[in-house]
Amino acid sequence: MLLFTPGPTPVPESVRLAMAEPTLHHRTPEFEAIFKETRELLFELFATDEVVMLASTGTGAMEAAVTNLCRDTLLNINSGKFGERFGKIAQAHGLSNIEIKHEWDTPVAVEEVVGTLAANPSVDAIAVQVSESAGGLRHPVEEIAKAVKEIRPDVMIIADGITAVGVERIDVSHIDCLIAGSQKALMLPPGLAILGLSHAAVEKTGAGKGYYFNLASEIKKQRQNTTAYTAATTLVIGLGAVLRQIKAEGGFGKLYCDTARRAKATRFALEALGLHSYPQIPARSMTTIDDVNASEIRDLLKTDFGVNVAGGQDHLKGKIFRINQMGLIAPYEMVWVVNAVELALAKLGRRDFDGTASRVFNKEFFKSTLNPSSNKEEK
Ligand SMILES: *Cc1c(COP(=O)(O)O)cnc(C)c1O
Repeated sequence: MLLFTPGPTPVPESVRLAMAEPTLHHRTPEFEAIFKETRELLFELFATDEVVMLASTGTGAMEAAVTNLCRDTLLNINSGKFGERFGKIAQAHGLSNIEIKHEWDTPVAVEEVVGTLAANPSVDAIAVQVSESAGGLRHPVEEIAKAVKEIRPDVMIIADGITAVGVERIDVSHIDCLIAGSQKALMLPPGLAILGLSHAAVEKTGAGKGYYFNLASEIKKQRQNTTAYTAATTLVIGLGAVLRQIKAEGGFGKLYCDTARRAKATRFALEALGLHSYPQIPARSMTTIDDVNASEIRDLLKTDFGVNVAGGQDHLKGKIFRINQMGLIAPYEMVWVVNAVELALAKLGRRDFDGTASRVFNKEFFKSTLNPSSNKEEK
């Protein structure tokens, strides 16, 4: 079965093997050396001033970001389940929150954020997804961050990059906190979250509340290559192995380029079948299709063609399906996935099978490998 859900994603073999080594004690020079190397690789990936690893899922890092970087009012962008979650976290901690809410296919506009901020001076942090996984859309996070910092440099910008870090290069110039989670683009089992922080964010954590998610005490320890509490040793070892594997396969730039090309070729292939891409601005982390037969297509992919893709949640249950683009994915696997979608449509009597999907995918994906000048990171 091919696992093509946008989290969890498949764990590469080299990484599974690295994690099969006997357990290390976390307070040893051996583990500290591994921690140090992994931390250095994370600095390359995040390009932020500081990085912190936490033994938690992505939601724990979202909570840590809110409790450490917001003191008064959180402005959260809700174009899906994960954006909504930031508001719930704020409320759970007795913080005020203001929400900009849209349908799950609609990214927020920069002007809306700026306008809401101007009307609400108590807002001291903004939380937004880079890639909102609920409907597979991309928010203009870098533009929002830049515009906000021009008028309110004190406002903390929290960017949930759980399905974006490791997918594309994110400009962190104006972002204070960028969050990643192990089981999405980082190709690991669940249980590790990472925050990349700006100097300003690190300063603000100093007055932070909370015990386990007290980022100031965590940062202090992690700067010494250890952790405040027991490190998620196996996952940290796995993370080091993932980042080394990415570098061995051409580096982050190549990974971003391949991902962008594959996501685009997949979308073109499915559109050539008459299918519709759901989000107004698609994220590169996944290809999201809305369709009346979404659940039938998804079932057929699994039962007849050995492909596991994700459906939708809440009001989009049975209305969309989502194909993962995160990680080191072999193009031949994606050729099979789009071909399987075409076969499923044929089984449903929607169109005659003629190999359109794989032809369009191959043409779009491989034309650029034959033309090296187009082989740089795509915008
Ligand atoms: C998966 C996901 C989360 C939640 O992560 P968990 O590891 O399930 O806690 C948050 N934000 C986005 C964008 C996600 O895709």
